[in-house]
Amino acid sequence: MARGTTPRRPSLSGRHDRARVTPGGKTLRKPVRAAKPRRQKAKRLAYDPLAPARVSEVLKRLDTLYPAATCELKHSSAWELLVATILSAQCTDARVNMVTPELFRKYPGPRDLAKMRPEQVEPDIRSTGFYRNKARLIVTSAQRVMEEFGGQVPQEMEQLLTLPGVARKTANVVLGTWFKKAEGVVVDTHVHRISRRLELTTEDAPQKIEQDLMRVIPRSKWIGFSHQIIWHGRRCCFARKPNCAECLLENLCHAADKTWTTVATNPAARA
Ligand code: SF4
Repeated sequence: MARGTTPRRPSLSGRHDRARVTPGGKTLRKPVRAAKPRRQKAKRLAYDPLAPARVSEVLKRLDTLYPAATCELKHSSAWELLVATILSAQCTDARVNMVTPELFRKYPGPRDLAKMRPEQVEPDIRSTGFYRNKARLIVTSAQRVMEEFGGQVPQEMEQLLTLPGVARKTANVVLGTWFKKAEGVVVDTHVHRISRRLELTTEDAPQKIEQDLMRVIPRSKWIGFSHQIIWHGRRCCFARKPNCAECLLENLCHAADKTWTTVATNPAARA
């Protein structure tokens, strides 16, 4: 064969894109290659801690864990619950429960306490701490209940908030636990800590935390949720060393201060 007449094979790389004709008249075309499948970027769904499905799973697991959670302060009336809650500030419920049976025996209702001077009540509540202030608050609250509300603890949030020593937390405890009225969510130290760990809020002020929780939790759950979270804080999700390895909420919780985890944590989510 004369030099220069050997047909060149088309490049396998597809460099030659023009069709060539062999001396035999056969057309050589660029080999058609199967299209490479495009590598698709895995779609990452944005994590939303407030997604309704996540929140309802948290609530469902709390129901499983603490189906009978309720207020642990001993009481047999709205008045006793109000006094016990005022005494529980900066004090454990267990300590308050040691003090109140004798206190309520001596002063069964607001009428009895309203006649006293705070100094006379101080020895009865001394072990709950801040006893001078607490004695003043329960005596003046008793006087106000007698003078303004006919001896009955009011059932409205606005009225309850006019009593000395009663802020939204105490009012929510009384309204929710005794009157079964869901006017808000109790935000105590446990609810504050665990709501932040569970990313139900990023706020720090109790009132703002309450507003966030009221937005994200169905009203029918407000009363039970507070009790369940308080129980969880006392039994598992401790302030210093939460027992994450045994927590039923573990794989839903991304708190940065977990002691054990199976999921990625979020540095911003902490107590
Ligand atoms: S996993 Fe740990 S930090 Fe999260 S709620 Fe449970 S005990 Fe608390």
